[in-house]
Amino acid sequence: MATTSGLVWFRRDLRLDDNPAWSAATSEHGEVTALFVVDPALFDRASSRRASRLLGDVAALDESLSEHGGRLLVRVGDPRVVVPQEAKRLNVAAVHLNHDVTPYAAERDGFVQSALESLGVEWVPEWGTLVHEPGKIRTNAGSLSQVFTPFFRVWERTPWTPWPTSGDAKIANDCGDALPVSTGSYPLLDGETGEAALPGERGALARLGLAAGRADSYDEDRNTPSILGTSQLSIDLRFGTVSPRRAAQVIGESTAGRAALVRQLAWRDWYAHLLAATPTLVEQPMKSQYAAIEWRKDDEGFEAWKNGQTGYPFVDAGMRQLRETGWMHNRVRMVTASFLVKNLLIDWRRGEKYFRHVLLDADVSQNVGNWQWVAGTGPDASPYNRVFNPVLQSQRFDASGDYIRRWVPELAGLDSSAIHEPWTVGPLELAAAGIELGTDYPDPIVDLAFSRGRVLDAYAAAKR
Ligand SMILES: Cc1cc2nc3c(=O)[nH]c(=O)nc-3n(C[C@H](O)[C@H](O)[C@H](O)COP(=O)(O)OP(=O)(O)OC[C@H]3O[C@@H](n4cnc5c(N)ncnc54)[C@H](O)[C@@H]3O)c2cc1C
Repeated sequence: MATTSGLVWFRRDLRLDDNPAWSAATSEHGEVTALFVVDPALFDRASSRRASRLLGDVAALDESLSEHGGRLLVRVGDPRVVVPQEAKRLNVAAVHLNHDVTPYAAERDGFVQSALESLGVEWVPEWGTLVHEPGKIRTNAGSLSQVFTPFFRVWERTPWTPWPTSGDAKIANDCGDALPVSTGSYPLLDGETGEAALPGERGALARLGLAAGRADSYDEDRNTPSILGTSQLSIDLRFGTVSPRRAAQVIGESTAGRAALVRQLAWRDWYAHLLAATPTLVEQPMKSQYAAIEWRKDDEGFEAWKNGQTGYPFVDAGMRQLRETGWMHNRVRMVTASFLVKNLLIDWRRGEKYFRHVLLDADVSQNVGNWQWVAGTGPDASPYNRVFNPVLQSQRFDASGDYIRRWVPELAGLDSSAIHEPWTVGPLELAAAGIELGTDYPDPIVDLAFSRGRVLDAYAAAKR
């Protein structure tokens, strides 16, 4: 029986199931303290909805621990101070944690690691936030592929198993400071009821069960935002209430739909690996020739985009879904992001920061990677001359108009051919649908053909 004690510093891995840091600590030590630090530098920046989600998941982790006779030790403060302080107070031999790839986390963790080492406390990092850790998936030349498909080929044949189960250490029951009180209810998405409406890992495993239940048709349904066609697991993956390996294991690859869904987890790993290798991605275009693009300031256009008032119904539906729920369907994320960058010629970094603030699943590596993909500035990105046409995208992926009707209810009276471009509808039809364009719903804020030419010129000029 081990006599040492250890500390597990929970961050974005709010679960006991399939958590390598937790299993290592509870196997190696006689007693383990579970710590969560509410870092005001991060917490105060989160939207109130994301803060509620986080607090719900943290409280649920405390409940999971109490089922094993322990509690979650909660402290509020700068982790660079708090973690070494607690390690010293508790006289632990080691601090266990799961890594994170953001530049903020890397800097913070480097600091904590040195402080702990000077106290003689071991720093034991694991990679329980990804299927494969950065550095593991390499091309034959030994480097990280800058193109997704070769990365994926190695990713899919690299074996992994779920992490070992927890050991039998005693769990400390000092709960420290009270948790900050959540001002909102635990935010949920469509279809999340019953057990799947619970916070934390219990709810997450139920949500994973629902996602696995509809995964067979994922490849057919994933691009239709009006239906529940995707897994909606991104928020649980973000907070680590479910492990990516557990998700891949439960979904499996027995059908084309399931395999397509698991492939998306490889995109998630890839963007994390890219950021770990190139931290400057957060601010700098990966393709340096695009650093010189002359972006427009256009505060009015930016506000119209944020508020879902661009006059393009599909774009507005997405931006309103985001504002009202904290989540947006992937197809619509691509179209709304493209509209900002390509049609309004507004810097992708402004859009990225807004998404980062509002999205419940906001994750720097994923958000930056995808924004750079849309902007055409990232690795393996959408070509710079690919400008999504928001009307064609709408006609193709929301043919019924149901997604628009749900989020832009003022257009609900238009039929499925008119709803994608209300400015082409005659006055009688508009009046019959109860719409006065320019009053009930805006006219388009930018002309698509003109803005396409403008962005191509701007990108070409930057390359010269
Ligand atoms: C502009 C833009 C910004 C984005 N920002 C984020 C973000 O901050 N956080 C985030 O998790 N995802 C982000 N994405 C990726 C993607 O839109 C979401 O992961 C997805 O919509 C989440 O819904 P889901 O769980 O139902 O996905 P599913 O389609 O069910 O996919 C399953 C899982 O695979 C991963 N995945 C799916 N698509 C992608 C992708 N394009 N890139 C990387 N991983 C993917 C996610 O972890 C997702 O939960 C962004 C995409 C765009 C275009």
